[in-house]
Amino acid sequence: MDLRPKIVVIGSLNMDLVVKAVRAPKRGETVMGEEIHFIPGGKGANQAVGLARLGAETTMIGAVGSDAFGEKLKKALQKDGVNTSSIKVLDSEATGVASILLAEGDNSIVVVPGANAQCLPEDLDRYEEKITEADLVLLQLEIPLETVEYAIKLARKHGKTVMLNPAPAQNLSQDLLSKVDYLTPNRSELALLTGMSEESTIAKGIEQLLEVGVSCCVTTLGAEGVAFREKGGSLVKVSGNKVPVVDTTGAGDAFNAGLAYALAQKESIREAVEFAVQVSALAVTKFGAQGGMPTLAEVEKFQE
Ligand code: ATP
Repeated sequence: MDLRPKIVVIGSLNMDLVVKAVRAPKRGETVMGEEIHFIPGGKGANQAVGLARLGAETTMIGAVGSDAFGEKLKKALQKDGVNTSSIKVLDSEATGVASILLAEGDNSIVVVPGANAQCLPEDLDRYEEKITEADLVLLQLEIPLETVEYAIKLARKHGKTVMLNPAPAQNLSQDLLSKVDYLTPNRSELALLTGMSEESTIAKGIEQLLEVGVSCCVTTLGAEGVAFREKGGSLVKVSGNKVPVVDTTGAGDAFNAGLAYALAQKESIREAVEFAVQVSALAVTKFGAQGGMPTLAEVEKFQE
């Protein structure tokens, strides 16, 4: 019998086109770039890779175009053992792309969702069996909100744990929030969701979300670590791990993968947060979002 936790990720797949140039072009200008890298990304795909590296039986539901990028993104997931049979391939849409310009120590990003915008509620009906088999359903906000809402409805119908990483930041209805078991905003997402400034206390923001009906709110605070609180409990802070930082891209994705994995293993919320803090600390010691996701063996070695 396969005792690995079963997790379904419903979310985005993007090809990140990372261009490095000495300076950014002015309006109407052309400049020569120095390097280009094609890096598999998308919050959904990054979190799916993170889960699979930790050993979860991971299925991804999403959409790509019938183009070279779509093929590459699926292959990247398959290489890590993610089940890609529920990823829809569309002739009518291009694969999602994030065009990232790195110049003068700054980055500017244009995201074209493409096929991600066609990940629709009816696709979830088609793959409902995957949801019924899962221990936990993990979502982000890079696919249409109506799909996220429908996914939560289906997951709850089947009694599954729902974890929502509300990124990129977006306002969410009270009704949707009240159906989420684990909500994982970072500091700025917490501010947007609660209408509070980032300076006002994290504790107040989390309290407001619990009042709305979220069962547990876990807020990531970058290198500082995490603050979390469950309904009926008090605020708990877990410090970040001190590590040599190489690239913080995807730290949040690694954290969500670690948290979902540990919760699906029926760990307590405190143990799960501590595990996720270790997973995300290891992720920032390596380059790239998917590239930086650690294996379970690497996390266990880090714990020694
Ligand atoms: P990103 O958008 O860059 O993926 P995020 O804003 O969603 O990240 P953060 O709060 O920055 O999420 O980071 C998530 C977790 O990653 C933190 O809670 C922490 O455990 C870990 N982390 C992030 N940055 C560092 C760091 N410099 N050193 C150690 N751990 C880190």
